Amino acid sequence: MTRFAKPAVLACPLCDEPMLQPRLASINNYGATTWSDGFTSIIGLGHRQDIAVCPSCEGIFWIEDAMQIGIMHSEPESTAWPAWKRALGHFNKEDASTLAKERAWKGVPDSWHWAGKIESIRGRELVWALEHGLGNNPERELILRRKLWWAGNHADRGSTLRNPMTARQTCDNLEGLLAAITRNAPEAPTMPMVEAELLRQLQRFDEALAIVDDPAFADDDLAKTIATNARLRNTKVCIVSSWSIAD
Ligand SMILES: [Zn+2]
Repeated sequence: MTRFAKPAVLACPLCDEPMLQPRLASINNYGATTWSDGFTSIIGLGHRQDIAVCPSCEGIFWIEDAMQIGIMHSEPESTAWPAWKRALGHFNKEDASTLAKERAWKGVPDSWHWAGKIESIRGRELVWALEHGLGNNPERELILRRKLWWAGNHADRGSTLRNPMTARQTCDNLEGLLAAITRNAPEAPTMPMVEAELLRQLQRFDEALAIVDDPAFADDDLAKTIATNARLRNTKVCIVSSWSIAD
């Protein structure tokens, strides 16, 4: 079962307005498809947010830069109780818990009631973020480029989402991502499957095969998918595995 915890209240690092961040308390997947570029489509669930859009100023920010200023409590059931019940409430566990919820609810600042939910960053906004220096350290550059890569492949997954990049930008991003993941480890690939898949999508099929044909990956489904499609000279993103609760 997928359950949601009470939303966290964050302050926007750009405009300081409060905004709500929904939080998952537990996750149960009802089906997932994994793709050769590492993207996983999980039915009914969004992905963990690391970069988002403020509902007040529409600025793009990294979640880790937004300070958590509280928890948004849910509205309690009516406590328009007669005075005697209110007084006795402290002796009854259930009533005491309702009174505690009421206190928490009354403590919520007015501005939080009007706070909007933080929004997911979308295709063109990712392009903007990368062009405007939000990939300001290696980890952030990697996250942005990887999200852009996935966004560029969504149309080939059968999604109605269009590639937010031009053909030139798409190619530059593949090159940029490849450079980012090989920068620190030219000899020993730290993300061999990502590297092989990028090479395949860049039509560098032989280099991709040199990685995935390594006997170490003989039992790896992703390596097999990349190898098969590199031999077919196919550059499109492919399904690696798919399952659902109906299986
Ligand atoms: Zn803002």
